Amino acid sequence: MNAPRRVAPEAPSRRGWCPSLARPMPTGDGLLARVHPPLGRLTAAQARAVADAARRFGNGHVDVTARANLQIRGVTEASRCGLAEALAAAGLGDVRHDGGPQRLTLTTPLAGFEPAGTVDVPALARRIEAIGLEIAGLPPKSLVAVESDVHGIALGPAEADLHCVAIRGGLALHLAGDAAWWRLPDDGETIVEAALRLLAASGQRRMRDVFDVARAEIPARFALPPIPAPAASSAPSPGAFPLPTPVGPERGSPRSAPPVADGPVALLVDAPFGRGTADALGRLADTADAAGAADLRLSPTRGVLLVCVDAGAAETARRALAEAGFLTRADDPRGAVAACPGAPACASGSTPTLHDAARLAEAFRPFAARGLRAHVSGCPKGCAHPGAADLTLVGRDGRYDVVLSGRPDALPATRLPFEAALERVRRADSALSLAQIVPDPPPGPRPS
Ligand code: SF4
Repeated sequence: MNAPRRVAPEAPSRRGWCPSLARPMPTGDGLLARVHPPLGRLTAAQARAVADAARRFGNGHVDVTARANLQIRGVTEASRCGLAEALAAAGLGDVRHDGGPQRLTLTTPLAGFEPAGTVDVPALARRIEAIGLEIAGLPPKSLVAVESDVHGIALGPAEADLHCVAIRGGLALHLAGDAAWWRLPDDGETIVEAALRLLAASGQRRMRDVFDVARAEIPARFALPPIPAPAASSAPSPGAFPLPTPVGPERGSPRSAPPVADGPVALLVDAPFGRGTADALGRLADTADAAGAADLRLSPTRGVLLVCVDAGAAETARRALAEAGFLTRADDPRGAVAACPGAPACASGSTPTLHDAARLAEAFRPFAARGLRAHVSGCPKGCAHPGAADLTLVGRDGRYDVVLSGRPDALPATRLPFEAALERVRRADSALSLAQIVPDPPPGPRPS
């Protein structure tokens, strides 16, 4: 176990930068422009437009983010305007120009499959988006998670400022930094708006940093009753699974009415470490068409969910996307490893994190089967996973600091070349603690 002392990231200058099409962010491989599809959903035609734009105006790389957005890499000062125009023409342009969040809400890709008589999650998310557009000064990373307890609560890691959950008979609300959940009345959106205005006026970037006394004023002002936290669940895993409720005529229907008895099936595929290419996105669009899926639903798992017309179409799609390199099974060990772009894509990285993460994933397979998680980070900033992992390799001067059960900015136990770290993981007994890969007692001061 590592000491909790933190070390400073090497390149904190991009922290807090929330790139958009109008405001792309400099990285090691050029400008990074983020596309924010409404509700995190694109038609196949829009996905092809993004793929085409990534080839014409970027370097052909397309990431899927943990907030269900897309990132186009390798944009230049000369190409950025063409990119913004092309995506605006496809209905994927920026929606605000005051520095506020381009998309305020995050929903699960299963949103829309709620039972009749409960809150329509996509419709609620759209209304909250409209509210947010009217609030000047909303911090660029503001986030309202909107989901239903029918699907369980799967959006926790996204660090939402507000968490709205459709429960039987209404809505539950959680404000980040607060321990309690509150039941909202019928006009609950008024309270969501009040909380967002509080955040905008606070001068803080996140709700969790707003003074407790100010945050507590929201439930007090509206006399909200506390309620138990809705039941949590984990995010869906790659693979095909039945939809949680029958498909209704208006909510999330696949484009073709299912003529078969078994009905529509959801297929979730994740991009390896959230990274993909224009060609892979084009393949997804073609597969969605062939499977009868109405849209590509981006997932906070850094993947895409397709609602296929039936189990046969889902299996055909799964095979095609597995061939294209996507994670299509829950036991793929790459799903247990997070990795940032690292070198050479990011100027703060000195190690090829994605290449190393793919090799580490294979060695880590028996630990992944036990539910352990690993992270390969190009530097202590930890863009891919700022939280703790069972094993974190943090790039530094071409080697890796090894952090056990800590965040990327925690004090490392040792520092190793990648091949040495990989060999220790391969030789480790997966029935034992990962501490065995650091046989030497951690030195007092940080390795230099
Ligand atoms: S964590 Fe990775 S992507 Fe983030 S700044 Fe460091 S090297 Fe770059």
